[in-house]
Amino acid sequence: MLDLAIIGGGPAGLTAGLYATRGGLKNVTMFEKGLPGGQITQSSEIENYPGQVDVVTGMELMDKWPSQCQKFGMKHDMSEVKKVTKDGEVFTLTLGNGETQEAKTVLIATGSVPKSAGIKGEAEFFGKGVSTCATCDGFFYKNKDVAVLGGGDTAVEEAIFLANICKTVYIIHRRDEFRASPHEVEKMKKFDNIVQVLNHTTEEIIGDNMGVTGVIVKDKDSSETKTLDVHGVFVFVGRDVLNQTLIQEDGSFLCDTNEAGEVIVNLKMETSVPGLFAAGDIRIDAPKQVVCAAGDGAVAGIGAIGYLQ
Ligand code: FAD
Ligand code: NAP
Repeated sequence: MLDLAIIGGGPAGLTAGLYATRGGLKNVTMFEKGLPGGQITQSSEIENYPGQVDVVTGMELMDKWPSQCQKFGMKHDMSEVKKVTKDGEVFTLTLGNGETQEAKTVLIATGSVPKSAGIKGEAEFFGKGVSTCATCDGFFYKNKDVAVLGGGDTAVEEAIFLANICKTVYIIHRRDEFRASPHEVEKMKKFDNIVQVLNHTTEEIIGDNMGVTGVIVKDKDSSETKTLDVHGVFVFVGRDVLNQTLIQEDGSFLCDTNEAGEVIVNLKMETSVPGLFAAGDIRIDAPKQVVCAAGDGAVAGIGAIGYLQ
């Protein structure tokens, strides 16, 4: 029986593990199905983590977080958690291999994943020219032309990253104004090889058996369409929360969620179910920042200690 089972090893889960073990919990396991560190490890640069003055990659930022937690006794299980249920006072986690694990408290810190833009050709060419990770796949398009879809911080930041590798980066956004912070937009404007295609929708990603050859875009005012010849399309149109572990046999969620499936928590990161906490991108009103996810994790770790007392 675990004191605390942490599901997800991103900034929220890792920080919860640090605070819970340093705060005296003996039996804490973090379940992380991939590499610990979370989605920020896909980012080419982070410059807004307090105290981290030099711009580093997401991978560099997260490098030491797991070992810091393990130093205080947190265990890491590389399993995917499929489901969490609660019977009486006890939670049961069902793992990917079918085994189960009981816990007195649980933290859901499963974060979020890239949203699909729902464009024709997007699924067909995924992995064959369509990508959601510039750090992972950008190099395949060295000196080639690529398109970035979206107008948020991720789209703008990753367009800048790609501009250092690729010949031309078309950033296609459905509105006249970017959602991204003005600071990032100003930075992007300094790149001659980033072409802004604003007020355009992406109608289709086209290609052949070798992969992507272009994107068809439509001017929202004139309805005119044109084809941009590109070999890669990077889709950055937001994120969906990963809440599948909370789904019960009857299709309901274990705890209260909002219409977007985000977990409803109070200021102590407590959900509607006693002993069940949620932290980071998965919770309602999450600012979706590393520092905020880490802060949530600290609150949840302290909360789990309080609950067990
Ligand atoms: P995540 O980081 O998403 O971690 C969740 C973890 O849970 C993952 O490792 C996943 O593998 C694991 N997991 C999920 N489901 C299961 C399961 N069922 N079983 C086991 N493990 C599971 N934020 C900033 O502050 N500054 C930035 O500059 C910045 N840049 C970004 C750039 C990019 C490209 C992206 C994608 C995000 C960026 N962000 C940035 C946002 C930041 O990364 C997130 O807000 C933060 O990582 C959220 O942390 P989290 O712990 O809630 O979730
Ligand atoms: P986001 O802020 O939700 O932006 C998504 C963008 O995609 C928006 O511009 C949106 O257009 C567009 N979009 C959505 N659906 C679309 C569709 N179907 N077709 C075409 N375009 C579509 O997502 P994000 O950029 O991934 O950022 C997620 C969170 O992480 C944000 O809170 C962000 O601030 C944070 N983040 C922060 C940093 C940083 O601090 N440096 C870096 C990366 C991410 P509209 O604008 O018209 O809605």
